[in-house]
Amino acid sequence: MDFTRLTIAQVRKKLDRKEISSVELTKAYLERIGKLDRKLNAYITVTEKEALHTAKKADEKIAQGDASPLLGIPFSAKDMYLTKGIRTTAGSKVLENYIPQYSATVLEKMEHAGAVLVGKNNQDAWAHGASGEHSDFGPTKNPWNLAYIPGGSSSGPAVSVAADLASFAIATDTGGSIRQPASLCGITGLKPTYGRVSRYGVVAMASSFDTMGHFTRSVEDSALILSVTAGYDEHDATSSEKPVPHYASELKKNIKGLKIGMPKEYFTSGLDSNVSKTVKTAMHKLEELGAEIIPISLPHTQYGVGVYYILQTAEVSSNLARYDGIRYGNNRETFGDEAKRRIMLGTFVLAHGYYDAYYKRAMKIRTLIRQDFDIAFRKVDAIACPVSPTPAWKIGEKVSDPLAMYLADIFTVTANIAGIPGLAIPAGFAMGMPVGMQLLGPQFSEDILFRIGHQYQLTTDWHTRKPDLPV
Ligand code: GLN
Repeated sequence: MDFTRLTIAQVRKKLDRKEISSVELTKAYLERIGKLDRKLNAYITVTEKEALHTAKKADEKIAQGDASPLLGIPFSAKDMYLTKGIRTTAGSKVLENYIPQYSATVLEKMEHAGAVLVGKNNQDAWAHGASGEHSDFGPTKNPWNLAYIPGGSSSGPAVSVAADLASFAIATDTGGSIRQPASLCGITGLKPTYGRVSRYGVVAMASSFDTMGHFTRSVEDSALILSVTAGYDEHDATSSEKPVPHYASELKKNIKGLKIGMPKEYFTSGLDSNVSKTVKTAMHKLEELGAEIIPISLPHTQYGVGVYYILQTAEVSSNLARYDGIRYGNNRETFGDEAKRRIMLGTFVLAHGYYDAYYKRAMKIRTLIRQDFDIAFRKVDAIACPVSPTPAWKIGEKVSDPLAMYLADIFTVTANIAGIPGLAIPAGFAMGMPVGMQLLGPQFSEDILFRIGHQYQLTTDWHTRKPDLPV
């Protein structure tokens, strides 16, 4: 039996029944990485030695009867997460040899839970991108077709889960970087509410948008991980003190009578007709499960990409100013083109004389976009819509056209602008490539999104489909 294909919930049972040990499971993943990653390029650093050490310790605890949900489970982390003593690059040559002095809170929580870090994942440098092609460590390939992009910026974390090179992966979502690659790789991806999970120890991209989430093979697994990562952190003043619900028990509730909004602005002419059909079919399934689909309007959606690329670049230009090559990191010449583009754009929109015309106006529209959601959530419990306007595209297709790449974020940036949670789940295929459906909800409504997603996965099998990879 190939244990690397199982969900966390499934492999947990095998570990507890001693059908496999954490060391064996970790070795199986490391072996797969060894065989496949030369082609896929999902990892920047593989932490074999540390992983086997952690797995051995996990096995000792399992032998003593400890059955904590993530104990002994191998996972990977986007290279934005600081890992004490382990190289952390953010996908950029600026931090090529940077070894952090401390670990991100999420990583500390993982360590405490006994999860086994097998490596640090490839990504677009500084999390700028929607394709994985902006990594200074080479592009990551989509396991469903190696000529295609896997999405970004969390290209490596998505591919490690989709290609069974880790059983889950921790990543960041500032404008769609978890939901979009989840959709393009056929897996489950969660962007929690802003402030639900601590940002401490994660390389900052755009601080008022950055959210820490994860990739999994099922919604059930996603809920399991959020139970571990969510919660207040004294090191992050924007982390929420709201108690963390018991997500696992919420999953079991049916969705009869839930009102799910269908925003007309997300089903317009720019949307690929196959994607539109797939998402509508998935929504029909939700209706069969007892939900009520209600047409809604989010009138300011069309300004989302514009607002995002003004405010996000402004924050990026400030956050990247610390990489001056003095205390750590290589000097500023090592920044890639995309980072330079964003620093220039961000500096421009903040400059005296342009601030009112761009930054201030974008801030006002940010409020309007947020109000669109507030108004909608008075009528509906959640919203269902596409994640990406198209399935994955060919490597190289959009890399020289930044605007085309930015427009791919049209359906994901709004959740970051408003700080609300979003869950991407596999909903089908278009021309052989995966297509996801996005579920959005009010702030701190992850429990409702999990419930809808889980009920959908109980009656569909899209999330169980695997790419055909030579081993
Ligand atoms: N594609 C978006 C961008 O390039 C999102 C990035 C992200 O979420 N980190 O900014």
